[in-house]
Amino acid sequence: MRTTALISNTRAAHRDHDHERCRTAALAQARGLCLDRRVRLTPSREAVLRLIWDSHCPVGAYSLLERLEAEQGHRILPPTVYRALEFLLAQRLIHRIPSRNAFIGCPFPEVPHHNLFLLCRHCGAVAECCAGPLDQAIAATAARAGFSVTDHNLEIEGLCRQCQ
Ligand SMILES: [Zn+2]
Ligand SMILES: [Zn+2]
Ligand SMILES: [Zn+2]
Repeated sequence: MRTTALISNTRAAHRDHDHERCRTAALAQARGLCLDRRVRLTPSREAVLRLIWDSHCPVGAYSLLERLEAEQGHRILPPTVYRALEFLLAQRLIHRIPSRNAFIGCPFPEVPHHNLFLLCRHCGAVAECCAGPLDQAIAATAARAGFSVTDHNLEIEGLCRQCQ
């Protein structure tokens, strides 16, 4: 099976797409989901989410703190950022990329999914894919070992279309 056949829903991580539209849509979706789930997307949570959606490159907690301070023009305590990140992770609006210890926005927060990340080693962009057949193959492989999968993060390194 070719990898491309597994990718059912890749959102472009490329610089050639209309990212402003991409970000606006992601923020609108996050607001809608939080309303449905009756959880509060407070101004600081939303500010952190917006900063994460600045690009498709993962951003670390410290850099988020710095950008938030620059934007708001005053000092911000680290727990504000950590609590916002915890909330956004719990609502599955963002993901943590383990190898980068940094965060990206999730393009499909409305559907529960496992994570498959395509990391570009040149520009740093990360594309997230939903790969149902791959999830099934992993679950079946684990089941044969008597193991039940609750979560997995797969990171694939390479070069994005722009950087090839
Ligand atoms: Zn985009
Ligand atoms: Zn996701
Ligand atoms: Zn790239």
